[in-house]
Amino acid sequence: MIVEPKVRGFICTTAHAAGCRENVKRQIDYVKSQPKVDGAKKVLVIGASTGYGLASRISAAFGCGAATIGIIFDKEANGNRTASAGWYNTAAFEEFAQQDGIYAKTINGDAFSQEIKDKTIALIKKDLGKVDLIVYSLASPRRTDTDGTVYSSVLKTTGAPYTNKTIDLRTNMISEITIPSATEEEIAATVKVMGGEDWKDWITALKAADVIEDGAMTVAYSYIGPALTHPMYLNGSIGMAKKHLYKTADGINSQIAGVKAYVSVNKALVTQSSSAIPVVPLYISILYKVMKAKGTHEGCIEQMYRLLHERLYAPQLAVDEQGLIRIDDWEMRQDVQDEVTVLWQSICDENVKLHADIDGYWEDFYQMFGFHFPNICYSDEIEIDVKIPSINE
Ligand code: NAD
Repeated sequence: MIVEPKVRGFICTTAHAAGCRENVKRQIDYVKSQPKVDGAKKVLVIGASTGYGLASRISAAFGCGAATIGIIFDKEANGNRTASAGWYNTAAFEEFAQQDGIYAKTINGDAFSQEIKDKTIALIKKDLGKVDLIVYSLASPRRTDTDGTVYSSVLKTTGAPYTNKTIDLRTNMISEITIPSATEEEIAATVKVMGGEDWKDWITALKAADVIEDGAMTVAYSYIGPALTHPMYLNGSIGMAKKHLYKTADGINSQIAGVKAYVSVNKALVTQSSSAIPVVPLYISILYKVMKAKGTHEGCIEQMYRLLHERLYAPQLAVDEQGLIRIDDWEMRQDVQDEVTVLWQSICDENVKLHADIDGYWEDFYQMFGFHFPNICYSDEIEIDVKIPSINE
C-alpha cells in the first residue's frame, strides 16, 4: 500500500512503517556513535513505543547493552488502516536489537491494568530474573481504574483562566488562546492519570514479586519550563499531577527498600503528547530556533542518552535542591530563555517563520509518524502489516 500522512488536528492518523524504522535506526545510530555507558543491565520501560520512553529504551539497549522489556499500548495494522507509529517503532527496535544480539521483548496492553503488571512480572521472572532500572514514561489522556472508572486528564489552569499566544498548527497562524481553569474534579482526575499512583503501584507489585535487583533505580519524567508556560503547565492541572509524581518518588524512597526513585525534568520536545498542549507548540518552535542557532538543540534520544551517561550512571548523580534530575539544563539556560522571551513578545503572523523554527517543528511532527525522511521513497508500495517479533512469534 502507498501510505500518506493524514493529519487531523495535532495527530497523524497514519504511520509509515519504513519511515518509523528509519526513525528508530537514526536514534540507534546516534547512541552507537557515543561512548558506551556502564549502567543498566536489565531494564523495564513502561511507555516504550514513542517519545522519551522509546529513546530511553534505545539508550539502555544500545548505550548500556541492556536487555529490555517494553510495555506499549499500540495498534497493529487492520485492513487498510496502518499500525500506530509506536507499533512500527517497536517492531524495528526489536529487529535491530536481535541483529546485535540484545534481548528485547514487548508486552502490548494497558499499563494501568493489573493484568499487564502480572504479565510483566511473569516475563521478568522467566527471562531476566530481576530488573535493575525501571523507566516510567507513560503519557496518556485517560486511565481506566481497576473498578472500571475512567479518569480523563485535562490541560487547564488551576487558577484564573490564562490568555497567551498559540499557533494554529493547520495554518501556522498566531492567535490568542484562553485556557480555562480546571474544576477540582478535573484536577483530581488529571492527578489520577498523570500523577504517581500507577508508578508506585508498579514498583510495589514488582517488589512484592521480588523482581527488583537490590540497588535498582526507577525514573519518571516531568517538565518545568519557563514562566510563560507556568499557568498551564507547572501550575496547571498537569503540574499538579507532576507534583504528585515528586511526592511519589519520596514515598517510594521511604517505603520501598532497595530501589531509588528519581524524577528527571526533561526538555520540551515535539512528541505526540506535547503537541496536544496549548501554547507549548509555539514555545517549542521558538526554543528550537534559539537552541539550534546556539548548537545546543537536542531531541529525545540526545536527552535520554545524556540522562543515562551524565546523570543516572555518572560517578556522582547530580540533582537540584528539590532532588530532581535536571536534563532540561540547556533549555533553561538564562541566555536561551532571554532570547526566547524577546522572540515570544514580538512574534506574529508576518514574522512567524523568521522567529520560530516552524519547519523544524513540522519535520519532527511528521517524522514521529515516519514521514518526511529524505531517504525514504514515499511513492513506493509498502507492507503495512508488520509484526513485532516477541508479540507475534
Ligand atoms: P509520548 O506520547 O511520545 O509517549 C507516551 C508513551 O506512553 C507511548 O509509548 C504510549 O504508547 C504509552 N502509553 C500511553 N498510555 C498507555 C497505557 N495505558 N499503557 C501502556 N502504554 C501507554 O509522550 P512523551 O512526551 O514521550 O511523554 C513521556 C513522559 O515524558 C511523560 O511523563 C511526559 O509528561 C514527560 N515529558 C515530556 C516532555 C515533552 O516535551 N514531550 C517534556 C518533559 C517531560
